[in-house]
Amino acid sequence: MLILKSYTVGDLQVKAYLIGCPETREAMFIDPAGDETRLAEEIKKQGLHLKYIVNTHGHPDHTLGNAGLKALTGAIVLMHEADDMLFRTKEAEALFRSWGFGLSVPSDAHIKEGDKIQVGTLSFKVLHTPGHSPGSICLYGHGHVITGDTLFVGAAGRTDLIGGSLDTLIKSIKQQLAVLPDETVVLPGHDYGDTPTSTIGREKRENPFLS
Ligand SMILES: [Zn+2]
Ligand SMILES: [Zn+2]
Repeated sequence: MLILKSYTVGDLQVKAYLIGCPETREAMFIDPAGDETRLAEEIKKQGLHLKYIVNTHGHPDHTLGNAGLKALTGAIVLMHEADDMLFRTKEAEALFRSWGFGLSVPSDAHIKEGDKIQVGTLSFKVLHTPGHSPGSICLYGHGHVITGDTLFVGAAGRTDLIGGSLDTLIKSIKQQLAVLPDETVVLPGHDYGDTPTSTIGREKRENPFLS
């Protein structure tokens, strides 16, 4: 059993997820994309204690609330090293400013392929899925995969931004996501499909990136 809540956050309508352990009340928040005061209240309302803030990747629409939510909860920010480094460069800063964003706070620790993120009795595995960005990750556990901007319902993330690669993205999706059990629930970083969530089985039938 797990506590799972989703929130639509920020101007770019990022899908953010709160996952908590019902036994210990420990939780992690994935991609706090702003509205951190509201998100901190939601966490409190669920009776959860936030241990980690996890970014599926370093794009500013997904990391906007890192600093605020960290200040409000004391949680530790986790991101893959490749995005933590790349998206604090001058080139990235110029791009993000043109979108109306600043830079994210540096992460407190890095996560990599195969790491386990432990929240109470729950354990989620880090799948490194570069392509949308070099440090994109998905989180897999308890019948769910959180896919950030790597995989959407019926589509996949764009690869024309700094450090993106279509070949790499397709390889990541086929090697890391298409191999998961068909019944795995897909929780994407934006609601771009005809339903907010999907399953790996449905995506294998309907999403051109998996076939
Ligand atoms: Zn992105
Ligand atoms: Zn996004």
